[in-house]
Amino acid sequence: MDAYDVIIIGTGAGGGTLARHLAPSGKRILLLERGDWLPREPQNWLAQDVFVENRYVSEDTWYDADGNPFQPQIHYFVGGATKLYGAALYRLREKDFGELRHHDGISPAWPISYDDLEPYYTQAEQMYQVHGARGEDPTEPPASAPYPYPAVSHEPRIQQLADQLAAAGHQPFHAPCGILLDEPNMPYSTCVRCANCDGFPCPVHAKADAEVLGVRPALEHDNVTLLTNAKAVKLETNPAGSAVTGVAVEHNGATETYAGDLVVVACGAANTARLLLESASDKHPNGLANGSDQVGRNFMYHDSVAVLALSREENPTVYQKTLGLNDFYFGSDEFEYPMGNLQMVGKSQSPMFRGEKPGETKLAPGWTLEKVARHAIDFWLSTEDLPRSDNRVSLDRDGNFTISYTETNAEAKKQLYNKLRSLLGDLDMNPGHLFHRFMYMKTEIPVAGCAHQAGTCRFGHDPATSALDVNCKAHELDNLYAVDTSIFPSIGAVNPALTAMANSLRVGDHLLERMA
Ligand SMILES: Cc1cc2nc3c(=O)[nH]c(=O)nc-3n(C[C@H](O)[C@H](O)[C@H](O)COP(=O)(O)OP(=O)(O)OC[C@H]3O[C@@H](n4cnc5c(N)ncnc54)[C@H](O)[C@@H]3O)c2cc1C
Ligand code: SF4
Repeated sequence: MDAYDVIIIGTGAGGGTLARHLAPSGKRILLLERGDWLPREPQNWLAQDVFVENRYVSEDTWYDADGNPFQPQIHYFVGGATKLYGAALYRLREKDFGELRHHDGISPAWPISYDDLEPYYTQAEQMYQVHGARGEDPTEPPASAPYPYPAVSHEPRIQQLADQLAAAGHQPFHAPCGILLDEPNMPYSTCVRCANCDGFPCPVHAKADAEVLGVRPALEHDNVTLLTNAKAVKLETNPAGSAVTGVAVEHNGATETYAGDLVVVACGAANTARLLLESASDKHPNGLANGSDQVGRNFMYHDSVAVLALSREENPTVYQKTLGLNDFYFGSDEFEYPMGNLQMVGKSQSPMFRGEKPGETKLAPGWTLEKVARHAIDFWLSTEDLPRSDNRVSLDRDGNFTISYTETNAEAKKQLYNKLRSLLGDLDMNPGHLFHRFMYMKTEIPVAGCAHQAGTCRFGHDPATSALDVNCKAHELDNLYAVDTSIFPSIGAVNPALTAMANSLRVGDHLLERMA
């Protein structure tokens, strides 16, 4: 059996970031990735292939609580979900780390404070080359350094939107974007500023994803090995059940076992819980790290909504994701509870609609899908969903993988939607009409749109109510860690990747200290 100092399972935001952080240590590091390299091909940028034919979506079948099968919108590649992500790289707000009262209940506190994570947010912004402007967003938490790159400029229609929002008394800001764009020097810019970013892979490797800025830099170190098409299927322990001794992996049609002094799981929230549940043994009959019955529970995924408004003028914007609005993040004069974040999403293209089933287009009589796309201004509304014990992933006796999920905070989501709706007249858009887009969730089963999945193995001080300790080590095992979004005790209302990256760097420092 090959032996490593560290085995990292999964190469997405959590695993890819950790690999790069640990690589210079010279420790022997094995990266296990169930997917392959995402092929660089013309289809990367074709809406028909990406959005209608689901070219880069896994073929997994999962089940909802009623036993209905669905194809989860999940991506198995080196770089994980970040290969397709929109690269909006937000920090959680400072108050998100404390207990917060929402319309539907309490969002629990994290076991660490914002101040504990702040230095790692700064490092993560530097590693992922985030472009942004401090001081514009009133909810922005304090930062110890400026953004490493200037904000991505608004195109004229979005600048107009920003001006109109400001004139109506709001505080729009330049959204933090992870793209390798050099606007003053476009002939040398890696990013060409195209319309096919959010939800597409980037064939020119200009997106700040975990392959380009995590795994590839890690592999420049001889002590790092990557095994692709290597699916971890079980974690084996010593007879006492106190440490992981082997990782069983399906690779090239055979099962191989690898040993590591430290084992870090970063398979994405649902699959991390799945691997732990599948690793049940005599010593851990309910799954590894699951003496508290927490593994799989508190699944969250931002039951977000993508909507488009119809601009009176055409909207020729190419790269639309440059603007955000957090004025209603913690509530408003009329609604005292947190509502969430408003941001732009990738520009609509008519072929996407065929993948997204926009039944509501009938509300715009006489408008072809092409015309709707030309006039669309597209927003992404995210409201925090609360961790609920019964919202969970689980395995049944036949090994079927189920996500049971009941929506929380529907009222707050509705309030945020209504806020946007009420603004349209001021923003030179057809008042009263917002059309739903089913971006990232191209099926009738909302939970299939699990792009922002989190929870399932939360970290905390108390082994009775958490699976992992403050260093994200399993309470019950000496050498098992998790660093993906599974560790989130709550999800806030901003996109989760930067927080997973920052936490991975934090845990990485702990691992380096432990291995010193
Ligand atoms: C279309 C889309 C748009 C998004 N936009 C944004 C955005 O703009 N901003 C943002 O912050 N977030 C965004 N997200 C979410 C973001 O990508 C995720 O939050 C983030 O990637 C989660 O990181 P992770 O490490 O938990 O999981 P992932 O990045 O999914 O990585 C998990 C990895 O583990 C691998 N794996 C799974 N099981 C196994 C196994 N058994 N053995 C070996 N390997 C395994 C997977 O193949 C994958 O590579 C988006 C996601 C999608 C899908
Ligand atoms: S906008 Fe830039 S990073 Fe995004 S897909 Fe286009 S070239 Fe790649």
